[in-house]
Amino acid sequence: MNYQQILSDILRQAESLAGEGRQADYIPALAEVNPDQRGICLHTLEGEQFAVGDADVRFSIQSIAKVFALAMSLSFEGDDLWRRMGKEPSGTAFNSLFQLEIEHGIPRNPFINAGAIVMADILVSHMLDPEHDFLTFVRRLAGNDTINYNRTVAYSERQTGYLNAAIANLLKHHHNINNDIERVLQFYCLMCSIEMSCRQLAQAFIPFADHQQPFRYAGVELTASQVKRMNAIMQTCGFYDEAGEFSYLVGLPGKSGVGGGIAAIYPQRYAVAVWSPRLNGKGNSVVGMRVLELLTTETKESIF
Ligand code: GLN
Repeated sequence: MNYQQILSDILRQAESLAGEGRQADYIPALAEVNPDQRGICLHTLEGEQFAVGDADVRFSIQSIAKVFALAMSLSFEGDDLWRRMGKEPSGTAFNSLFQLEIEHGIPRNPFINAGAIVMADILVSHMLDPEHDFLTFVRRLAGNDTINYNRTVAYSERQTGYLNAAIANLLKHHHNINNDIERVLQFYCLMCSIEMSCRQLAQAFIPFADHQQPFRYAGVELTASQVKRMNAIMQTCGFYDEAGEFSYLVGLPGKSGVGGGIAAIYPQRYAVAVWSPRLNGKGNSVVGMRVLELLTTETKESIF
């Protein structure tokens, strides 16, 4: 498969969407990013990399960090994790409150904000220095020690994150947060603020694409079955109330973030990361969705 040629072609085709959508600005620091950048990197299990566009520019991975948080939380808690959250698609926005109230403080799944805030609480409980250990884990997955948090973005989000604060309070009311709310929210925002390029993200997702290899990174260990199940949750919950649409158009497990990134995997073949900051109304990258739709259409490679 000539991935290099295919990636160049599909990025060119996605040009027709240039200017569609808007970058996230509810986190003020994200509004400063040039919205007209786009890049793709595809990393095969054999270790080949194919990159086009702004594939080496680092961006805010935001909710893509929830995949790394889930890997860590599962390695600490195993199936006990599912006492504190579900694994069903929510069909609601990533920052929605109403389902959480009806369901008595048990988030639908780990990839909506409520679920990720509970995971932040779990990680704070398990680690003496969660900021350090989480970053070390991500650096090890990506094989790159220069990856870092952007504390300006984290602070900007924490200053204006009224909805996440409401979610955390509701969780605490239902005894689904054990630590101090402020501590948990600070750590949650910091996790989301990690900056990575498409090239680094694609590499960091290879262990999820290859669940037959032992998953052991910086003390985080998962069984093949746990990795396989994480992929199932990416498939059903990775795009909030657009998870069905992503499955329909693309047919790969993946995870998006409001920084405009999407990481997806084709099990036993490759991991791919796409970035373009302009988002649709559901908070997913317009160009990113189209590029991945074109990728699986042109290559006829998808899990379906
Ligand atoms: N940090 C963001 C938030 O909590 C993450 C949301 C996202 O990327 N969908 O709003």
